Amino acid sequence: MAKYSNKINKIRTFALSLIFIGFIVMYLGIFFRNSALLMTIFMLLGMLCILASTGVYFWIGMLSTKTVQVVCPNCGKHTKMLGRVDMCMYCNEPLTLDPKLEGVEFDEKYNKKNTKQS
Ligand SMILES: [Zn+2]
Repeated sequence: MAKYSNKINKIRTFALSLIFIGFIVMYLGIFFRNSALLMTIFMLLGMLCILASTGVYFWIGMLSTKTVQVVCPNCGKHTKMLGRVDMCMYCNEPLTLDPKLEGVEFDEKYNKKNTKQS
């Protein structure tokens, strides 16, 4: 079950790790302080990662407008889902908006529009 997690949470984790990578890359630049060029490259790369994460956070904001709020049947909490199938943010219970898929084993491929299932 650990293979799947809530999409919004996944993207948020990605954005957060981008910030960390950015800081690590900038920190590594300090070790190259003898070379102004290398240090500048590392600083720029770090800045790019942080800028990218800002972009991802903005993207989450856009996606949030498309999410559907549902009450999880397993833990009873309000969770946000994206697409036809998603996982509960709290207990990773598979959720679906499509009655046809209810009871069907959870598979992220149902989110893709061009599957033979649909
Ligand atoms: Zn739940």
